[in-house]
Amino acid sequence: MFDMSQIIFSVLLLITIGVFAYSAYRIYQLFRLTKPAYPVKDFGKRIKRTIVNAFFQERIFRNRIAGFMHAMVFWGFCLILLGSIEMVIDGIAGTERVLASLGIVYDIIIGAGDVFAYIIAVFIIVFIFRRTVLNIKRLHGKELQKKNHMDALVALSFILILMLTLAGMNIFYIAGHPDYVGIYPVSAILAPLFSNVSSNTVFLIHDICWWSHIIMIFIFANVLPYSKHFHIFMSIPNVFFSRLTPLGKMTNMDSITKEVKLMMNPETAFAAAPENEAAPTRFGILDAEDITWKNYIDSLACTQCGRCTAVCPANITGKELSPRKMVMNIRQRMKMKGHHLVNNPDYSDGKTLIRDLIKEEEIWACTTCNACAKECPLNIDHPTFILDLRRYLVMEESAAPAALNAIFSNIENNGAPWQYSNQDRLKWTE
Ligand code: SF4
Ligand code: SF4
Repeated sequence: MFDMSQIIFSVLLLITIGVFAYSAYRIYQLFRLTKPAYPVKDFGKRIKRTIVNAFFQERIFRNRIAGFMHAMVFWGFCLILLGSIEMVIDGIAGTERVLASLGIVYDIIIGAGDVFAYIIAVFIIVFIFRRTVLNIKRLHGKELQKKNHMDALVALSFILILMLTLAGMNIFYIAGHPDYVGIYPVSAILAPLFSNVSSNTVFLIHDICWWSHIIMIFIFANVLPYSKHFHIFMSIPNVFFSRLTPLGKMTNMDSITKEVKLMMNPETAFAAAPENEAAPTRFGILDAEDITWKNYIDSLACTQCGRCTAVCPANITGKELSPRKMVMNIRQRMKMKGHHLVNNPDYSDGKTLIRDLIKEEEIWACTTCNACAKECPLNIDHPTFILDLRRYLVMEESAAPAALNAIFSNIENNGAPWQYSNQDRLKWTE
């Protein structure tokens, strides 16, 4: 028979799963709106990249101290999550430490989880200190408003409470069970400090820590889809799906490639067009409906760490452009307009991503140096997105800066970017 705590736990679990499924479904609906980016193949290369970049945190280590701390938090989190699976089973079945029968494997997971709980707690306090006191330039910027800083601090506080309740749970479990199962390298040292506390109080504190920990996990899981910390879920898929082609290699637009081929071989102009071939509805990206699935997954994975903006030469030299802002704008715009588009494909709020969120000045400030994409720990590809914004401006509005328009017309008229006919190319020899 179920006791009351099992029933309460199961109801809370069902509510958590239900709310999370609803959030996930809303995000899935937005993905369905997105446009194609590139075919996903070469799974071997993708798995290798995911292991190196995501699991071994290769790029994060470029900043040794902060990188090391972040990597420890990531690895610790993965281990502690395994322990949380046991808590869920215990909560439903009314058991205690049900996976202890795994023996040495259990000891390793629980022991490492115990050590990491303290390490993560300390590092999270350092992260909060860096954000609130040290004023690290990378963690600030025009695009980061008060709500973004609050979001980061709330998530860090959640993680801190999770670690403290986990440590408390372990300490008071040992204090209340002389024949405890598992290995707790740090908590076992701290537990004797509470040897004078009555056993009733020890059990009560253990239960409070247990319930607080699991309820915090349930709440945190449902806050994440609306927070920048959604990267906890999205960073690994984002690295897996990241582009494999070299940075800087431009993707050709199929419709334009066909046009160029046609110009070079006009006889094909009268060949029958393949069936189902639809004319392109838009060149490049103007607004939410033009976003590709890759742009959107990038925006969900972004941690707002600012590593991209910190290396952007345009930003460093005082231009408006911030690659972090660009990525944040994608998520913001999808949130503003995407759900309306799901219900009404013709929906318009009279605004567009270009101009209302991203100024033309930002778009043209990019040198396409790819430093941002190279530095991003999650392999986010900013320049391809910026290029698509430019494609829209040039191909749909002819709204390139005057200097570029002159080059475009020279190419059109002279077959070269200069204002001289290519017939006159050798005149200098005279
Ligand atoms: S795009 Fe990458 S580097 Fe830039 S803020 Fe987001 S996660 Fe950090
Ligand atoms: S590619 Fe553009 S946005 Fe990225 S770092 Fe270079 S100039 Fe900045």
